[in-house]
Amino acid sequence: MTSLAEYTSLRIGGTPRSLVVATSQEQIIEAVAAADEQGRELLIIGLGSNLVISDDFVGDVLVIANKGIENDASACAGAWVSVQAGEILDDFVELATASGWTGLEGLSGIPGTVGATPIQNVGAYGQQVSDTIAQVRAYNRETKTIDTLFAQTCEFEYRTSIFKQQSNRWVILSVVFQLPLGTLSSPIHYNELAAKLGVEIGQRAPLLAVRDAVVALRNSKGMILLADDHDTWSTGSFFTNPVVTEAPAGAPTWSAKDGKTKVSAAWLIEQAGIGKGFGLNDRVTISTKHALAITNRGGGTAAEVLELAKYIQDTVHQKFGITLDIEPQIVG
Ligand SMILES: Cc1cc2nc3c(=O)[nH]c(=O)nc-3n(C[C@H](O)[C@H](O)[C@H](O)COP(=O)(O)OP(=O)(O)OC[C@H]3O[C@@H](n4cnc5c(N)ncnc54)[C@H](O)[C@@H]3O)c2cc1C
Repeated sequence: MTSLAEYTSLRIGGTPRSLVVATSQEQIIEAVAAADEQGRELLIIGLGSNLVISDDFVGDVLVIANKGIENDASACAGAWVSVQAGEILDDFVELATASGWTGLEGLSGIPGTVGATPIQNVGAYGQQVSDTIAQVRAYNRETKTIDTLFAQTCEFEYRTSIFKQQSNRWVILSVVFQLPLGTLSSPIHYNELAAKLGVEIGQRAPLLAVRDAVVALRNSKGMILLADDHDTWSTGSFFTNPVVTEAPAGAPTWSAKDGKTKVSAAWLIEQAGIGKGFGLNDRVTISTKHALAITNRGGGTAAEVLELAKYIQDTVHQKFGITLDIEPQIVG
């Protein structure tokens, strides 16, 4: 059996007892229903880009690989696009920007499958999928039914949703996006992206220019998967940006719900004295390009990833009294 290191962006994970690659909704439901009936735990994987799987994991795995994109565009409603869960997110974003479907361009270059995007409400550069998701179709493991969840019932918030809160309840089969038609992006609300494009905050820019700018910014931070660049052997940001009532002086911030403030976790880490490239050993270190990514330099283990994460959490807490929450899913 193949090691799960081959199925995760961290290149870490044990060897499963069984691994099924499901290429249709029927195969997904069949595998999940069988595991539930037999009382077996089942680890569901898309592209493995947000998973830290322990080295001694020995369970059953289902890989979501159903494909297909159907578009029903109309001048009034925009593009109404139904995407199978196993489609690769960036392939879909590339298609959307080339087709004049707006609202996803800021998500260019994010690894993973479309089916995983609702789980942590994937977002970057001022956009998040909850801005454009209309419906999520999912197999409900409790009622054994296929449910259609409208966006309002998905409880989307910053890096979370009902699917993350009730993690074993639904298996996402497909996602429907409603995307306005146009050649310009949605308004740019992210300083770094606005500067790269040479536009003011709140202005729009050509869709393809935004995609190119986002990809260039992400590449400079090691935030696009590249097999020969260990800075990208990560889960992306390892910590979410904490939401606080009062941010430390000088910290980059964004406004959050209920009058609170979201603070840059990368800034907190660097100001706590932990620089890019830092590690407790030379197998697992912070990326040399981004303070928020924990990376496998080769031969790293899940235990070493979590040890470094704990060190970072403790150091930031000591300095600022702020707790950093872990973003990826920890398995085993
Ligand atoms: C280099 C890099 C950069 C990143 N940048 C960003 C970023 O900018 N913004 C951002 O939000 N995230 C980012 N991420 C995190 C990651 O891309 C997202 O979380 C992505 O949605 C994970 O998709 P996946 O298919 O790889 O999911 P996996 O890692 O395979 O799974 C993640 C979780 O979702 C569950 N899951 C997967 N598919 C399904 C399904 N169909 N039904 C039910 N449960 C499912 C899994 O069980 C697991 O709990 C980055 C990761 C990397 C490696």
